[in-house]
Amino acid sequence: METVLSGIRSTGNLHLGNYLGALKNYVKMQHENRCFFFIADYHSLTTHPDPTQLHPNVHGVLAEYLAAGIDPETATIYIQSDVPQVAELYLLLNMHAFVGELERTASFKEKIRKHPDNVNAGLLTYPVLMAADILLHRATKVPVGKDQEQHLEMTRRFARRFNNIYGVEYFPESMPYNFGAELVKIPGLDGSGKMGKSEGNGIYLADEDAAIRKKVMKAVTDSGPTEPDSPMTECVRNIFTILEAVSTPDTVDYFREQYATCRIRYGDLKKQLAEDIIRVVAPIRERIKDIYNDSAYLSKVVREGGEKARESASETVAEVREIMGIRPF
Ligand code: ATP
Ligand code: MG
Repeated sequence: METVLSGIRSTGNLHLGNYLGALKNYVKMQHENRCFFFIADYHSLTTHPDPTQLHPNVHGVLAEYLAAGIDPETATIYIQSDVPQVAELYLLLNMHAFVGELERTASFKEKIRKHPDNVNAGLLTYPVLMAADILLHRATKVPVGKDQEQHLEMTRRFARRFNNIYGVEYFPESMPYNFGAELVKIPGLDGSGKMGKSEGNGIYLADEDAAIRKKVMKAVTDSGPTEPDSPMTECVRNIFTILEAVSTPDTVDYFREQYATCRIRYGDLKKQLAEDIIRVVAPIRERIKDIYNDSAYLSKVVREGGEKARESASETVAEVREIMGIRPF
């Protein structure tokens, strides 16, 4: 049995990219593995330090995790800040993380570009906290989307470095995991880049059908192919990428053929895409509404999940302290 871990930043509601890139995969694997799912509220502080929004966001994401099919009877669901051991492991790992390698991280460079006014140390050391999240339970499989590939590579590097420095075989290699052959990246419908909470371009699991139709119909397209088999521009390719994730192969083939023969009508493509997204999202949305208001259930889930997570975490931190020479008198 392998240990699996994954987390979602509590910076807003879950979108289709979170679901198709990561969540759907955890749901499928939760019964065969030792699974931990956590809501990354410490991580949200790097970009969204808003005390009025933090708790409501955690509440929303928790309801969405459960509605998407994570089963608290088999998996351990917890809130990151309920397990303070992660903060200690983060501190200890920081001693072996180099500023140069952190500065070279693609996500850090991107955040600097987008928010030059808030380049805080938490943002720089984000990959170290993420490594601590994963190594805290010595997870071997991490279901993530393609955007997290580099962070996971850094987790392995920190783990190997720790093992080398202290001459131990303690931390395992944490590998990205996806049920398909490749990690997926769900793009936004705004022409370029990924769908993301920070990007503000999400189709959310809590969206009503009408909102989904409206967002999809507004997707950026081009003026259409003029020659047979011409390559797609990025905005159109993005629509096809999402179509492939939610529609049947027949539907995808049909629209590819329409495109290749220059007969495609983007309006029809979008209509189809909207309906297929709704088929995925609507049942989850309805469950979110029920679960969100059941506070007794939600508090039981996080209380029990927090206990289980702290148990696993304290074991690791005690062993890491011992390895590093922090010992009682
Ligand atoms: P933020 O903008 O706050 O970073 P996010 O939308 O990128 O939010 P995260 O909480 O960072 O979401 O990521 C949660 C999980 O969802 C990760 O496993 C990540 O790989 C996955 N994920 C996020 N966006 C996408 C996407 N567009 N396609 C596929 N997977 C994604
Ligand atoms: Mg992200």
